[in-house]
Amino acid sequence: MRKVIIIGSGPAGYTAAVYAARANLAPLMLTGLQAGGQLTLTTLVENYPGFPDGIQGPELMETMKKQAERFGTEMIAEDATAVDFRRQPFVVRAGDASYESHTVIIATGATAKLLGLDAETKLMGRGVSTCATCDGFFFKDQNIMVVGGGDSAMEEALFLSRLGRKVDVVHRRDRLRASKIMQERALKNPKIDFLWNSGVEDIMDVNQGKVTGVRLKNFKTGVVDERPVDGVFIAIGHQPNTQIFRGQIELLPNEYIKVVPGTTQTSVPGVFAAGDAQDHVYRQAVTAAATGCMAALEAERHLETALAR
Ligand code: NAP
Repeated sequence: MRKVIIIGSGPAGYTAAVYAARANLAPLMLTGLQAGGQLTLTTLVENYPGFPDGIQGPELMETMKKQAERFGTEMIAEDATAVDFRRQPFVVRAGDASYESHTVIIATGATAKLLGLDAETKLMGRGVSTCATCDGFFFKDQNIMVVGGGDSAMEEALFLSRLGRKVDVVHRRDRLRASKIMQERALKNPKIDFLWNSGVEDIMDVNQGKVTGVRLKNFKTGVVDERPVDGVFIAIGHQPNTQIFRGQIELLPNEYIKVVPGTTQTSVPGVFAAGDAQDHVYRQAVTAAATGCMAALEAERHLETALAR
């Protein structure tokens, strides 16, 4: 029987673990098979406080992991596959085991969205990617396309411009969603071009098992044309990793976890949600860490009252 189980190991999960462990709650963390969350797919993180020269994403996560371990967090490298929050203690299944706990902190984060094209999944890892940091190296001196108009798309395009011959950003509108500073950097980069009001209709060539080009549609003119490219990076936002919580706690229509405003409390007392799984607005490492802290403090308070009864 556990006092706290933390599901997920991004900034929210690790921060919750540091706080819970230091409060003597002996947390059990299910890190997931791929520990560390989205920051392990990034390069330089320049906006996490305390690192005036920035820090590499994977290094930042390794540091957080060590800090959580130092205070005695037990970590299991499994994905949680099912939960039962209808009974107390709560049950969390992972691998072949079931774990029982008085409180659960959900910190499962979010995953990159895809366009929904058949070719996109077939060519994933064969020229299609959602992570420039992971795969950019394979496209040295080649022609690259980035889809999206937000900060992620600008970040991917800027990173890829250092490796590729040319980067085309395809955006469905004529205005970017990205922050001013990221827009400016991308717009003035001589290696980055923008294809406005356009979308990817298809990616070729599934038969060859590699990306050779894309079919683009201009939504304003209706013109469809094909362009040769070697790599396509999809950067159109994220989907919260909340599937296993459907029917167990209340989710918003966009499938992010609903929490009581200003807290991490979900619809089930004793179950708390931190980080991107419950945040569709800020989605920053530092806000994830902050809500991880809140979740641990709220779990501690819940245990004090619930177990005292
Ligand atoms: P986002 O802000 O939601 O932007 C997604 C972009 O993809 C939008 O431009 C959207 O177009 C486009 N899009 C969505 N679905 C699409 C589809 N099916 N087909 C084509 N285009 C589609 O997501 P994000 O860029 O991942 O950023 C998420 C959050 O993280 C933001 O708050 C952002 O500020 C933050 N972030 C910050 C940094 C940084 O500061 N360095 C880096 C990365 C992310 P529309 O514009 O038409 O909706």
